[in-house]
Amino acid sequence: MPLLPRRFERLKAVLDCRMGDLTLMLEQVDKPHNLSAILRSADAVGLVDAHLVSLAGRQPTFNSTAQGSQKWVKLHRHGTSLEAVQMLKASGYKLYGTHLAADAIDYRDGDYTGPTAFVLGAEKWGLSPDTAAMVDQAIRIPMRGMVQSLNVSVAAATLLFEALRQRQQAGKVPECGQGLAPGQYQTLLFEWAYPEVASWYRQQAKPYPELTAEGEISEALPRSLRLRC
Ligand code: SAM
Repeated sequence: MPLLPRRFERLKAVLDCRMGDLTLMLEQVDKPHNLSAILRSADAVGLVDAHLVSLAGRQPTFNSTAQGSQKWVKLHRHGTSLEAVQMLKASGYKLYGTHLAADAIDYRDGDYTGPTAFVLGAEKWGLSPDTAAMVDQAIRIPMRGMVQSLNVSVAAATLLFEALRQRQQAGKVPECGQGLAPGQYQTLLFEWAYPEVASWYRQQAKPYPELTAEGEISEALPRSLRLRC
C-alpha cells in the first residue's frame, strides 16, 4: 500500500522538530511500565534516541503505556554503565545524574540548552555509586511531601519538559530538521515510512533508496517486498 500523503507529511513534521542533542541514559530501568512511560515522554518532547543499561539477562519490554513510542525513539542498549557514559561523553553530551545527594543542585538551575543527557536510575536503588561519580552534575527535583522520591518516569518527564522549556525560551528548538545530524533526517524518514523495507535493506547491507517528494520509494523493489509496503 502506498504511503498516504497525510501520513508522510506528519512523519516529516515530527522529524522536523526532533532534537538529537537531548537524550536519556537509563540505568536498570527495566520495568516495562516505567520504560514505556519514559519513551512516551521522550517522543512527546522530541528525542531521537535513549540509552539503556539493563540488569544482566533482561530484555527491554514495553506495554500499552508506550502507545508505540518505542517505534519513534531508538533505544540503544549498552553492556555497562561505563560504556554508555564513555560513549555519551565522547559524543559531547553533558551528563546530568539524577539523585538525591547533598551536592545535587535544583534541576531548574541546570542549563539544558546544549547537548544534554539525563541519567536516571532504578526504581529500588537509584543510580549506582559508580555512575553517580561519573556524571558531570548531580541534579534533584525538590520534594515537598512525605515520600522521598518520584517514580522514575515522572522524574524523566519533568526533566525533559524543563529542557524543552529552556530551549524554547532560548530559541533553540529545531523546526525544520536542523536538530538531526546530516543524512539522519532521510534515514529516519525512510525507516519511519517503510520499516519493513528498511529492515530488508539493512539485511542486504544496501543503502536505503531515496524517497520522492510524495514519499514514494524511487527504486524498483522485489515483488515480495512490494507486497509488504
Ligand atoms: N531509593 C532510590 C534512591 O535513593 O535514589 C529512589 C529511586 S527513584 C524511585 C528512581 C529514579 O527516579 C532515581 O534514580 C532518579 O533517577 C529518579 N528520581 C526520582 N525522584 C527524583 C528526584 N526528586 N529528583 C531527581 N531524580 C529523581
